[in-house]
Amino acid sequence: MKDHNALRNLIEERKDQLLQLCCDMIRIPSVNPPGEMEEMTGFICRYLESHGIPYEILRPTEKTPDIVARLGNPNGRTLILNGHCDVVPIGNREKWDFDPFGGEIRDGKILGRGTSDMKTGLAGLLFVMGVLADEKIPLDGQILLTVVPDEEVSGVYGTKWLVESGAITGDAALVAEPTGYFNCEIGQKGCCWIKLWVNGQPAHGSLSPFAGDNAIARLLKVLEHIDRIRDIVPRYNDETARVMEESRAMAKRLLKAPGAQHVLNHCTVNLGKISGGTKVNMVPDYAEAEVDVRIPLGVTCEMVEEQLLRIIRESGVDGVEYSFSWKSEPNSTDQKAEIVEAVAQSVQEVWDEPLNRTYQWASSDARFFRYAGIPTLQYGPANLEGIHAYNETVDVQDVINAAKIYIGAITDYLNH
Ligand SMILES: [Zn+2]
Repeated sequence: MKDHNALRNLIEERKDQLLQLCCDMIRIPSVNPPGEMEEMTGFICRYLESHGIPYEILRPTEKTPDIVARLGNPNGRTLILNGHCDVVPIGNREKWDFDPFGGEIRDGKILGRGTSDMKTGLAGLLFVMGVLADEKIPLDGQILLTVVPDEEVSGVYGTKWLVESGAITGDAALVAEPTGYFNCEIGQKGCCWIKLWVNGQPAHGSLSPFAGDNAIARLLKVLEHIDRIRDIVPRYNDETARVMEESRAMAKRLLKAPGAQHVLNHCTVNLGKISGGTKVNMVPDYAEAEVDVRIPLGVTCEMVEEQLLRIIRESGVDGVEYSFSWKSEPNSTDQKAEIVEAVAQSVQEVWDEPLNRTYQWASSDARFFRYAGIPTLQYGPANLEGIHAYNETVDVQDVINAAKIYIGAITDYLNH
């Protein structure tokens, strides 16, 4: 077994090929929506073939190809590597200072849509598999690479389907989503989308409030207090509390809005949509609203529902109905899980910095592995500013170092 230095040298010697692979992937505009993924899928499969890595394409639907590739010993333990190959749309092309699909390298940065989220991280995983295969590095366990086409549309036919259908399983997972440099993600918030509605009694508007019963006015009495969902106090242990404090400190540095670090350990409540009534001179007989609640570690969807019922009860409005159109629980991985320690060790060697373990305020496919009980962390190259915005870039050194960290962590974990 080669030591870390020798493995990292394999990446260093071939770094131009790694950057070439990144640029080639940026040039394929796998934008989602619309999610035309065949060209991207074909490209990745040819790459795997050229390194003699066996793979299969699973299609839960015609338009959603999932690539599953394997390398190493299937009788040992399995490390899942995961990435999505779709990117978000570019928005207004005029706002970009460069061609988002040019795949250009300038001033130590790779430029373009998907450089951070997350084609260079995915390229790093692919490249490392190629190097391990070419060099016939012995592995006691198995790498299971999963490339999915639909993360950017909260897709259900990518990671969710692969895990829930039983098509794949593993002992740990490493997702190459953007975290940047010596940061990783070991937990994220959950989500409840709530729809509330009430009925009223229609009447002529000229007789209000003496005739009829105004549904909009009734619903507003509830919505007035909907922010109280933020008062729910999360319950967690000291270990989680420590990671939470670090995450808040990091969010404070990264997020421009004053106080935004509070989103990490509180529910956020966004009253996103409201409608009701028929005509200005009619007392409305119906009103509805939709609320997006993001829930931190230590709070459950059930706790949100209990608080919602309290708010409705105390509003004094009767006949309020509600439903959840989407629910996901917050999720996390132990900060001392073996896969986290393996990445931490490599990060220390490559960056000469300790791995910064944090929770994220958004969510990603990592949750599906965690719901299945698979310890999972996210680690990948990133400049956070351009993600889902304009002028997305990534630093060349971050990309090369991430590949070095992957090769060290993967072999450590599998040959433990
Ligand atoms: Zn992503």
